[in-house]
Amino acid sequence: MGAKDPFVLPLSVLEEGESHRELIGTPADLDLDPEVFDPNGRVSFRPTVYKMGAKLEIRGPLVARARLKCGRCLKEFEAPVETEFRVFAEPPDSRDPRGNKEVREDDLGIVYHDGQSVDLTEDIRQVLVIEVPWHPVCRPDCQGLCPRCGADRNEEDACTCPRDRVDPRWQALMDHKAPESKTPESKASESIDSKSEDSEPE
Ligand SMILES: [Zn+2]
Ligand SMILES: [Zn+2]
Repeated sequence: MGAKDPFVLPLSVLEEGESHRELIGTPADLDLDPEVFDPNGRVSFRPTVYKMGAKLEIRGPLVARARLKCGRCLKEFEAPVETEFRVFAEPPDSRDPRGNKEVREDDLGIVYHDGQSVDLTEDIRQVLVIEVPWHPVCRPDCQGLCPRCGADRNEEDACTCPRDRVDPRWQALMDHKAPESKTPESKASESIDSKSEDSEPE
C-alpha cells in the first residue's frame, strides 16, 4: 500500500486545468464498519480534477464492496457500492468566523484545504456509509425463506409446505397441472376466485 493517507490529495501533484488521479485505499483507512466493509478490502476513487488556482472540482467514480445480508433469505453476500463522488475544494473563507469543521458539515460537497493538500477521507467515508443499501436483497427474484419450516425457497424442492399466498406465476403452473380437465369457462371463474383471495389485506 505505502501511502498512509491514501485519500489525501497533495496539491503539488496537480496541474492547472484538468488532470486524472487514482486514490486507492482500504476501508480501514476510512475507519468504516468492519462488519460491512472488509477492512482489508479495496476502496478506489478515480477522479477527474479541474484546478483553477486554489479552487478545485474533484469528481469521479468511487467504488467499494460491502458485505450484506439478504433481507429475504438471510444469506450473506457481497455487493459493489458504487457512486459518483463529487466535491469542490477551496481555501477556507477567512471571513467566516467558524472553524473549518463546522463549515464543512454545513456545506456538504465543499472541502476546505490548507494550500498543501485536500483531505477527502471524511467525505468519502460518509458517502460510502450512505450508499450501503438499507434493505439488501441478494437478487431481485430471491424467494426468501419458507415461513413455516424455514427452508430456503431458492433451492429446488426446498419444502412441500403449502403456500398461503400464491404467487401468480405459481398459480399458472398449478392451473396447468390441475388433474381434471375443465372447460375454459370454469377455469376462468376459478382464477377470478383465487385472485380475490390473493387481494385480501395482509
Ligand atoms: Zn436472498
Ligand atoms: Zn416449508
